[in-house]
Amino acid sequence: MVLREGTETSRGKEAYYNNIAAARAVADAVRSTLGPKGMDKMLVDGMGDIVITNDGVTILKELDIEHPAAKMVVEIAKTQDDECGDGTTSAVVIAGELLKKAEKLLEQKIHPTILANGFRMASVKAIEILRNIGFEVNMKDSATLKKIALTAMTGKSVGTLERETLADIVVSAIKQISEKTDGSLTADVDNIKVEKKQGGSVSETELILGIILDKERVHKGMPKSVKDAKIALINRALEIKKTEVDAKIQIRDPSQLQKFLDEEEKTLKELADKIKASGANVIICEKGIDDLVQHYLANDGIYAVRRVKKEDMEKIVKATGATTIGNLDDLSAKHLGKAEVVEERKIADSEMTFITGCKNPKAVSVLIRGGTEHVIAEVERALHDALKVVAVVVEDGKAVVGGGAPEIETAMKLRDYAASVGGREQLAIEIFADALEIIPWTLAENAGMDTIDTIIALKSQHESKDKKGKNYGVDVNSNKVGDMQTKNVIEPLRVKTQAVASAAEVATMILRIDDVIASKKSEAPAGGPGGMPGGMPGGMPGMM
Ligand code: ADP
Ligand code: MG
Repeated sequence: MVLREGTETSRGKEAYYNNIAAARAVADAVRSTLGPKGMDKMLVDGMGDIVITNDGVTILKELDIEHPAAKMVVEIAKTQDDECGDGTTSAVVIAGELLKKAEKLLEQKIHPTILANGFRMASVKAIEILRNIGFEVNMKDSATLKKIALTAMTGKSVGTLERETLADIVVSAIKQISEKTDGSLTADVDNIKVEKKQGGSVSETELILGIILDKERVHKGMPKSVKDAKIALINRALEIKKTEVDAKIQIRDPSQLQKFLDEEEKTLKELADKIKASGANVIICEKGIDDLVQHYLANDGIYAVRRVKKEDMEKIVKATGATTIGNLDDLSAKHLGKAEVVEERKIADSEMTFITGCKNPKAVSVLIRGGTEHVIAEVERALHDALKVVAVVVEDGKAVVGGGAPEIETAMKLRDYAASVGGREQLAIEIFADALEIIPWTLAENAGMDTIDTIIALKSQHESKDKKGKNYGVDVNSNKVGDMQTKNVIEPLRVKTQAVASAAEVATMILRIDDVIASKKSEAPAGGPGGMPGGMPGGMPGMM
């Protein structure tokens, strides 16, 4: 052996089985959370902090996973979350099922390369099938957008009434910030600022056509509210610049000191005067504001906040049309942003600045309210998913029904395709089709329904001549199969195509590994390379 002592290797069969077991363990960890009837997980970290959620990607991020193959599966959940904001559990569960089925074929001496090839072909075909199932959604169709927002939020521990409120907020927010560029629509959720304040109830969560800053005005002498606001955005400090090196000024008589102080005061007064001259009545400053400048601004009836984050400055630009200024000599009326009102409001027990009544703002805010930290955190995750899915549908203009219907339909069509391919790849494509059925299967299982009966009933609907048959999915509320369109279960097409693509990708990647060589875990404290190859992800919290 040429490797350092302590290096662990596993190859061939052993490598496959270890990797598959690890990846499947990840899938098993989140399976019970899938769908509206899925359960929550309580995660407790090393510091004793608790997270209660049923959000796939959140659970996986919190788990301290060491096995490299398991980590690859966690990565696809993250990709899914970045691309679609939803469908993370589905992607991981499909990947786990693909590998479970692949293991059976490996046992029958089918070569992993054949499997990987077949999976790749199946994935391309499945995406094509899904695209054909997809139907168009117009961004003006608020009713459908709302259904999509609600579907993304089902299963999150947020009450039904509150979900309605949140869904309305989501649809308005996305419509407000979407922009047409080169003929296509973009909806960037980064232009929606989400602020949280504990206190009140979730139903008091509100959309603000403007920006909220978790900041109070810098000086009590300033007005609390400014109507017809003209906002100057400044990214330099309104202070006297400190010299880079320590400078010493020697003052020999009192009049010199006074002169020096006067000089300083004059410079600061000039800063305030330049702002006033521009016609601004609100200052949003990225840096600090000197006490004296605060005082002058207050005398001039100007409202000011300081040390505002750069990304918030950018959102204010989008919301008010202001131009950020670094040199006050450049500041003039044309750089000022507009809002009906800028005011300080007391929310729970802290003061916040509300910039509201912006004209057609391309950045908006949502203020989340809720009784406890845990409630607010889960609302935030629900809101994140819903905002992202509605944004995705506005951008792509395509949706599918949910509840496992597209997976059943795709599986059926994939089997026809497999038969046309023939050869040994046919087997791989067929198990790919079988693996997709894990979605309706698990939805039924988590709802306490009979899984086999459900799949049989779904298949018979999808095979029927009735055009509505292909909309049939698992209706978890009545414990029957039903038309998902009439049950308002609708999801973005991209959530489905991305989930299939990433599941196939990680499964083929894992199948192509026939050798795992892991260096000995370094003795250094936390953060060293992962240990190998126990076969199971390490460090899972005790409740799994
Ligand atoms: P994911 O992380 O994959 O989004 P979820 O727990 O959100 O996991 O479950 C998503 C699945 O639940 C999707 O297949 C979706 O179609 C399905 N689903 C959502 N709402 C309903 C509903 N009301 N009835 C049946 N299925 C639903
Ligand atoms: Mg979801």
